[in-house]
Amino acid sequence: MSAPRVLVVGGGIAGLSAAWGLSRRGFAVELFEQGPLPNPRASSHDEHRIIRHAYGELEGYAHMMPAAFRLWEALWAETGARHYDDLPVIYFMRGETPWYEPTRRSLDRLGIAHADIPLAEIPARFPMIEPAGLTRVMRTAGGGILYPVRILTDLVKLLGRRGVALHANTRVEAIDAEAGTLRTAAGTVRGDAVIVAAGAWAARLVPSLADAAVPSRQAVMFLAPPPELEAAWAAAPVMIDLGEESGTYTLPPRAGTRLKIGDHRFTRAGDPDGDRAGTDEDVARLLDAASRAWRGFDRYTVLERKACFYTVTEDERFILRREGARAWLCSACSGHGFKLGVLMGDAVAGAVAGERDAASLTRWAAGLDIPD
Ligand SMILES: Cc1cc2nc3c(=O)[nH]c(=O)nc-3n(C[C@H](O)[C@H](O)[C@H](O)COP(=O)(O)OP(=O)(O)OC[C@H]3O[C@@H](n4cnc5c(N)ncnc54)[C@H](O)[C@@H]3O)c2cc1C
Repeated sequence: MSAPRVLVVGGGIAGLSAAWGLSRRGFAVELFEQGPLPNPRASSHDEHRIIRHAYGELEGYAHMMPAAFRLWEALWAETGARHYDDLPVIYFMRGETPWYEPTRRSLDRLGIAHADIPLAEIPARFPMIEPAGLTRVMRTAGGGILYPVRILTDLVKLLGRRGVALHANTRVEAIDAEAGTLRTAAGTVRGDAVIVAAGAWAARLVPSLADAAVPSRQAVMFLAPPPELEAAWAAAPVMIDLGEESGTYTLPPRAGTRLKIGDHRFTRAGDPDGDRAGTDEDVARLLDAASRAWRGFDRYTVLERKACFYTVTEDERFILRREGARAWLCSACSGHGFKLGVLMGDAVAGAVAGERDAASLTRWAAGLDIPD
């Protein structure tokens, strides 16, 4: 008897990881991607992404991180390349934040080292950071940088070697969740199950998602530091500013990547098929925040302004759920889904295999399972 066939829509981290998980479980897999593989328009496609255990009020996700790290290690073992730099992640707080207490609690429970850095040490240790207004600075272990373009590229090659049928430049026009089929311009493809991991485009295939998750256009800037700060940046950790006005995340220039600053305030607007060059309007808030978070921001050279997309739910939780008799939705959304994408893809593959029921998958993926 031939292996059950699963059709995966989307070649971002969630879809590729689902295909990897299905292939490991013995399924025949076909993956459909509307663009090239990997696709520069995917949310997952960038020079770097932050991975961390610190998760604030979304504590359930902190408790998923050990399993996510184990899967990343399994991936490196199979591809032969470890696209991860273990670096401290430093949080710069400017005023009281509800993020601190649950983070401290879950890091303690997980045995992840953390410590506050005396504010008096900040100017010497982090000369790029604006010290005015800081109320607490916390250093955490158990995190660092993932290198997504390299990860996606290796995953695509790995799936090819594993015999997954990869259909690049093949847009899925519709799915039939009851029949387990999908339609492309070439015709209908039959499977035993369909997984939709279509990122910011997912609601076009699963219209009910539109009520729960909206595409959000987000700005990032790649920068060259002034010469006098090059050495400091080369040794810099990942840095996250949690200030109301200065809220930003910063990835240092490591392993051939560029220095990047991004904005974690959601726009909840835009069309993922639109132009991706960062406009003046896209970067206006980011420029303002960057000039509050960093010292002497006007001395940096802007190399690129870029807009990218993800979907955002009201409470920033992921949506993994069963659709009809034969389809599954895997939406690792809300701007924190790369580090966990490998785990979400694997979990939906496990659900297709009957390893867990749909209700428990949905609850767990929403970060609602917090161990006693
Ligand atoms: C600027 C930015 C910074 C971020 N920073 C972090 C971070 O530091 N840490 C972190 O963990 N996460 C971060 N994220 C979030 C993370 O990147 C996303 O949550 C994650 O990549 C989502 O992966 P995905 O596979 O669900 O979606 P995507 O990567 O978007 O993949 C979906 C794929 O489906 C394809 N597709 C869509 N519709 C169809 C169709 N009809 N037919 C065929 N193919 C289709 C798309 O072309 C796309 O390639 C960030 C995101 C952005 C944009």
